[in-house]
Amino acid sequence: MKSIYSFSLEELTAEMLRLGQSKFRSKQIFAWLYKKNASNFDEMSDISKDFREVLKANYDFNLPSPTITQESRDGTVKCLFKLDDGEEVESVLMHYIYGYSVCVTSEVGCNMGCAFCASGLLKKKRVLLPHEMLGQVIAFDKYLKKKDPALGVTHVVVMGTGEPFDNYDNVLSFVRIVNSPFGLDIGARHITISTCGIAPKIVKFGKEGLQVNLAISLHAPNDELRDKLMPINKAYPLEVLIPAIIQYQKDSGRRVTFEYILIKGVNDSIDEARELFNLIAPTFGYVNLIPYNPVMENGFERSPDENIELFHDFLLQKGVKSTIRKEFGSDIDAACGQLRAKYAKK
Ligand code: SF4
Repeated sequence: MKSIYSFSLEELTAEMLRLGQSKFRSKQIFAWLYKKNASNFDEMSDISKDFREVLKANYDFNLPSPTITQESRDGTVKCLFKLDDGEEVESVLMHYIYGYSVCVTSEVGCNMGCAFCASGLLKKKRVLLPHEMLGQVIAFDKYLKKKDPALGVTHVVVMGTGEPFDNYDNVLSFVRIVNSPFGLDIGARHITISTCGIAPKIVKFGKEGLQVNLAISLHAPNDELRDKLMPINKAYPLEVLIPAIIQYQKDSGRRVTFEYILIKGVNDSIDEARELFNLIAPTFGYVNLIPYNPVMENGFERSPDENIELFHDFLLQKGVKSTIRKEFGSDIDAACGQLRAKYAKK
């Protein structure tokens, strides 16, 4: 049976029409799910008893909830969620000056094989359905509201385990539920999808009419190094990726952000900063520099602060809008995939 939380408003409207109902029915159901926090169909008092029985026969209220919660001294919270089939995924809540952001996992494991990533140590078993991603956001929202009813999740980034564009349709339904004023009502500019660079999907995404942010995990300024760090580069090398990004920007009117993890002695020299500048100059994209969060299994190390500063200063001098990402949860299993990997081993 499909979870009622798996439908975007547009998809639920199509379902209701299929069941012989009016268009309005989907908005009523959305209001019960996301504004009145109903936990079963019987609470939906403005829907006839007969149709509530039809709903019960067709859909359930399945929404994953956390089994393990780790809290960091800096306010970062990491949760492990057990899914219906026994698979486990993790998700992180981060506190910024501007609000609370949830980093959502989109697949159980990942096949993209990025050399620096803890998530990639566990191969992809399946994609997540929209309600399984939504459960991560709703769980953290409840966690915050329990502390203070005035708090809540303000930002969503699809940047956890998995490649979102490898699970394109489910991720888009999820994003539409999060963004809809009838759903979680989180503004498009507060939602970010991060891809490792599946060029055809980047172009497709630009034509969806969504105003959410797109981040490109770049991590290397040339094909030779990117081939080593990110195998996806062999399928979509930089000469394919950069034009796809330019096309996306043209169609969507939105500028991308390049994510660049700084790894000591691998990609953090001034020569590489120069190469990066030359590569992305035609896109006018932003750069988010990320000090590497070491994963024991691969031997990579975090760049020293001095290299990070020099790299950052070089980009700024060249006129590139660039920031250094704040580090979170150093006292918990903060790198994406570490918590799940730890429990999977056990
Ligand atoms: S960085 Fe992202 S795309 Fe690459 S292996 Fe990890 S989860 Fe997959």
